[in-house]
Amino acid sequence: MTPRRHSAQIRLRDVLVGGGAPVSVQSMTKTDTRDVAATVGQIHALADAGCDIVRLAIPDLEAAEALRSIRSQVTTPLVADIHFDHRLALASLDAGVDGLRLNPGNISRREHLQRVVALARERSVPIRIGVNGGSLPPDYRPEESLPERMVTLALEQVRTLEDLGFSLIKVSLKASDVVATVEAYRLIAARMPYPLHLGVTEAGPPMTGAIRNAIGIGVLLEQGIGDTIRVSMSGDPLLEVAAGREILSSLGLMDAGPRIVSCPTCGRTTLDVPGLAARTGELLSSVREPIRVAIMGCVVNGPGECRHADVGIAGGDGKVLLYVGGEFIRSVPVEDAFESLAGEIRRLLER
Ligand code: SF4
Repeated sequence: MTPRRHSAQIRLRDVLVGGGAPVSVQSMTKTDTRDVAATVGQIHALADAGCDIVRLAIPDLEAAEALRSIRSQVTTPLVADIHFDHRLALASLDAGVDGLRLNPGNISRREHLQRVVALARERSVPIRIGVNGGSLPPDYRPEESLPERMVTLALEQVRTLEDLGFSLIKVSLKASDVVATVEAYRLIAARMPYPLHLGVTEAGPPMTGAIRNAIGIGVLLEQGIGDTIRVSMSGDPLLEVAAGREILSSLGLMDAGPRIVSCPTCGRTTLDVPGLAARTGELLSSVREPIRVAIMGCVVNGPGECRHADVGIAGGDGKVLLYVGGEFIRSVPVEDAFESLAGEIRRLLER
């Protein structure tokens, strides 16, 4: 791993971003922000799953007003996603939001932008500038490559905020093309001091999205670039968080939480490994402790993996072998496999 790039540090409520802080995981609510109960429910679910910062779309003043009520019911840092209308930014700041996502270039009148920036500064609320490769002005610097154009535009937006004396800045450069995204972040990392929010945007359904983001985000983090991440995918935002945490954990950038080791199954498999792994994943979804669980289909590789796990099961001859602390403790009927495994996991976590 390349040592992490040194970036300026910003704070969203109790979460630090940049300046050597742990890489945080973000997601976005997919509820209608005006539906306070549904949005609060989703924020709680995201936070329970390990999401550090939650962004909400603020399409109108009703949504900005709902934000006030949402803010009072959750403790997770909230970012208001604003486009074009400075009044929504001002209302969101008034509602107690912890971060703004807006592009200064989208707010056409300078005095409007000045008011937003002045209030953000007064409240110490950072602003994320985000350039999306798919939304560049069509005639914008056609002679440059896509990553170069994204970087140039982002730096113009950064300068606009700097000219207003504002420096609580975070930058994202998202494209749906993984290689272009990586190149854009690499270019900008050397050209400004602000923290970087990583992600591959419009990445597709869950599996495609997770893979594309894991490659883009993973390559950059391995090179020391990136301070906060969002895995975007068309689907349940809890999957975004799970994927984000898995990326960080795989790179050793997060305290190891639960880890399920399960075999791919083959013609020797004697138990429902995919089903057991899925149920175990649900059981561990809100657990933060480092616990390693092995679920293996047979005795070929099963006992070996189970000996390296805190709790493990391996398919045997008409039964399941149960391991705790690397030791074989007993055989259980196949139909009791999950309850036996879950019981040992719960016992271990209670300790
Ligand atoms: S552990 Fe056994 S069942 Fe699972 S993939 Fe390996 S050989 Fe097949």
